[in-house]
Amino acid sequence: MNNQTTTQQAFKETNRDQVKKYLNYINGEWVASVSGKFSSNVNPANGEILGEVPQSTKEDIDLAVNAAKKAQKSWRLVPAPERAEILYDVARLLKQRKEDLSQILTSEMGKVISEARGEVQEAIDMAYYMAGEGRRLFGDTVPSELRNKFAMSVREPVGIAGLITPWNFPIAIASWKSLPALVSGNAVVWKPASETPFMAAEFVKIYEEAGLPEGVMNLVFGSGAVVGNAIVDHPDVDIISFTGSNEIGRQINEQAAGMLKRTSLEMGGKNAVTVLEDADIDLAVDGILWTAFGTAGQRCTACSRIIAHEAIKEELESKLLERISKLKIGNGLDESVDVGPVINQSSLQKIDNYVKIGVKEGAKLLCGGGILTSNSLEKGHFYAPTLFTDVSPTMTIAQEEIFGPVTSIIPVKNLEEAVEVNNSVEFGLSSSIFSRDVNRVFQAMRDLDTGIVYVNAGTTGAEIHLPFGGTKGTGNGHRDSGIAALDVYTEWKSIYVDYSGSLQRAQIDNR
Ligand code: NAP
Repeated sequence: MNNQTTTQQAFKETNRDQVKKYLNYINGEWVASVSGKFSSNVNPANGEILGEVPQSTKEDIDLAVNAAKKAQKSWRLVPAPERAEILYDVARLLKQRKEDLSQILTSEMGKVISEARGEVQEAIDMAYYMAGEGRRLFGDTVPSELRNKFAMSVREPVGIAGLITPWNFPIAIASWKSLPALVSGNAVVWKPASETPFMAAEFVKIYEEAGLPEGVMNLVFGSGAVVGNAIVDHPDVDIISFTGSNEIGRQINEQAAGMLKRTSLEMGGKNAVTVLEDADIDLAVDGILWTAFGTAGQRCTACSRIIAHEAIKEELESKLLERISKLKIGNGLDESVDVGPVINQSSLQKIDNYVKIGVKEGAKLLCGGGILTSNSLEKGHFYAPTLFTDVSPTMTIAQEEIFGPVTSIIPVKNLEEAVEVNNSVEFGLSSSIFSRDVNRVFQAMRDLDTGIVYVNAGTTGAEIHLPFGGTKGTGNGHRDSGIAALDVYTEWKSIYVDYSGSLQRAQIDNR
């Protein structure tokens, strides 16, 4: 199908009200939900209705899973290098449309346009990287313990991958999951977050245009409670790859456990930047600003705690305050804006409640701490970049994920205490340390209990060819991205070929 036809089908505009409508993508067709109902997609910066998407049902998921099941039978037999050719085209199309995709991303999610471009680039990188895997997908060949016998392990697709993704990285996370799933020979049923449906539709249009056979990729819009739940519950979905909140991740884990279904769960974080007394403070300020207030603090890797050596705490506070006062808040499509809106009204309220709890528990508010309602911002969901200090590690704002532009300074006396504070939360996604002392840096690299550690950089900045994920309450041991992602979407098969002409019994006949 050419791009024009695809776009006409996927992106219908009614003459009456000019509202854009996206449809589900099932078995290679753009189709309405059996419910016939739609819900609105809203720009968080100004309340503008961007368009509508189907409110799908369990029946839509049944149709998508049936299509995926049928398609996977032949997709698994397509040689991986041939599957990869399609992914190379996906990469090329993503690259061609980078600017359009970035504009859509900012409009529906709110992150500033430079970050949106970075996120689309992440999907491009992932597409090239996973296309390369089509010529690797390495297993092992190892010597057999018996004569005239050959031993190897190969990766097999798991079957049907149910992908459930969040709104804060609508294309990057979808690429981390869908590309390794597809190159490994799985078929996909994808439910994107209700807040970011357009990015999902645009990504799937690219898969279609790149020539992915019908039924291999299926996209169903709708609520987590109905559509997400139906994917998790469906007996023919073999693996659930979920990124989102701990609350929903735990629920999915319990639900899937009864069916012995594989789950890959990437959940929340409560990430910290540690600044030791010998750090380059200006560099640390750069790192903190970027990772605490970028994406309005709505990153799973956001710096939401600053563990500061008491000797440099005051200097850090004053430098941070000066820089925070210069941050420009507004619609992320404006190239000069530093911090965009948060996703919706309930997030705004949640962030504000946390700030109130912080004040009540005795944290010292240095700046921010309020919903922004000036003329240019009143129609959107904007929160003032907020800095607390003199926060104790056990306070609510130092323990729970806020997911907004709020961060807290926790003073400590030495590296040992810093590591203890860093590790004192239920999450284990990302941590960072600023120091020029190589011995203490290596000690921190060993002792910080997180899946990702940065040295002399903030808590975000993952590259797609390394594993992404966390320890403790952040996940269940799997990783998105990197070669590690292939372990989520493949089963190991060990194969023994005996060409001796006689029955050889391992562990018996070689002794
Ligand atoms: P969320 O509310 O848990 O939603 C995530 C996805 O799950 C959405 O698609 C949602 O659908 C769906 N969902 C909701 N209820 C469901 C149910 N009962 N069954 C199945 N699916 C269901 O999380 P979010 O607010 O979108 O994302 C923010 C969270 O994601 C934060 O905690 C953040 O730290 C985490 N995150 C983690 C990583 C990581 O890699 N560790 C990366 C990014 C974000 P609806 O949109 O329709 O509700």
